[in-house]
Amino acid sequence: MKIRLWMTSFGLIGASFLTTFIWNSCVEVNSSEQVLTDSVASTFSIISPIAQTTIVANGDDAADDPCIWIHPLDKSKSLIIGTNKKNGLDVYDLNGDLLHSISVGRLNNVDVRYGFVLGKDTVDLVVATNRSYNGLSIFKVDPKNQTLIDLGNEDFKSEVGEVYGFALGQPKMGSELYAVLVSKTGEMEQWRLNGSEGKITGEIVRNYQFSSICEGIVIDDFTGFIYVGQEEQGIWKLPVDPKSKEEPVRIVSLSDSPNFTADLEGLSLYYASETEGYLIASIQGNNSYAIFERQVPHAYLGSFIVSASSSIDGSEETDGLDVENRALPGYPNGILVVQDGHNHVNGKEVNQNFKIIDWKEIADSFTPKLKVNPQFER
Ligand code: CA
Ligand code: CA
Ligand code: CA
Ligand code: CA
Repeated sequence: MKIRLWMTSFGLIGASFLTTFIWNSCVEVNSSEQVLTDSVASTFSIISPIAQTTIVANGDDAADDPCIWIHPLDKSKSLIIGTNKKNGLDVYDLNGDLLHSISVGRLNNVDVRYGFVLGKDTVDLVVATNRSYNGLSIFKVDPKNQTLIDLGNEDFKSEVGEVYGFALGQPKMGSELYAVLVSKTGEMEQWRLNGSEGKITGEIVRNYQFSSICEGIVIDDFTGFIYVGQEEQGIWKLPVDPKSKEEPVRIVSLSDSPNFTADLEGLSLYYASETEGYLIASIQGNNSYAIFERQVPHAYLGSFIVSASSSIDGSEETDGLDVENRALPGYPNGILVVQDGHNHVNGKEVNQNFKIIDWKEIADSFTPKLKVNPQFER
């Protein structure tokens, strides 16, 4: 089936936009690949993936949200971890090859943080929303074996209607680890996790109610802010400090640009330094990705589309994504990993997977070019 993207966005575009946009052609997405034209290139830059993961085991809409874990000593042993929302987690190496799957329920969104104090140890944690239990599933990374150890979920039942989006936050000014989930009915629930006694305990320290479904969420550890994607509205920002009385501020509205078409889905942060970088959002309604300044006032810098290379199809209808600034073996300028909602091999739609994109390709496609800082450690 062909979807003419300009038609779906036409209703949102005012007449004034017509005078600045050349409508001599349109984007077409057919069953095998995207056909992109010059007129679109003037609005959306076009990038191709450089690698992709093994397909997920389940059909239909199953892959959802990735995170990237960096090995502390041997970066070649770093992992891409993706949710399969019908089964659990899939763990891939940096080539995208599946190392193993962990069947622990309907995991939806996943995030990672480093250096969590667990008794006498310091561990890296991977935490996901688990819709089978309506709570959190917590794992610690086993760096030696490139695997995840399930620390259970029984103590982390949520009080919201249905857990959905998720992010971890570890503010640099403190020792707290926060786990923040959002729900299909717009509830936000913030947990504080503590491992000092050798077993992870959690307490709910804040609730907030948004007006409708939220999923994408990311926390800036340096600045101490949470960004929440309200799928049909835009992006909200609020302090991660649960004691803060500041109300969330909407920094992006989907009505701000004709390039934004609901749903707004995954969110991730590119760190170019402690203060500089970008907020990246999956704009599911027109198969694109929008980039905003990480710094206030979070200016919109432009959008890109991930189109097919000679060997790998592009990404469409992306749910979750994660970006990593640090250099990795094979990826000296960092990577963006995105879920591909329609995965095609030789023109045939197969189970979903995740696409890997070179950050520098994205950065160089913008005018002026975006920052590339693979040396910044965090
Ligand atoms: Ca989906
Ligand atoms: Ca969603
Ligand atoms: Ca695709
Ligand atoms: Ca999703």
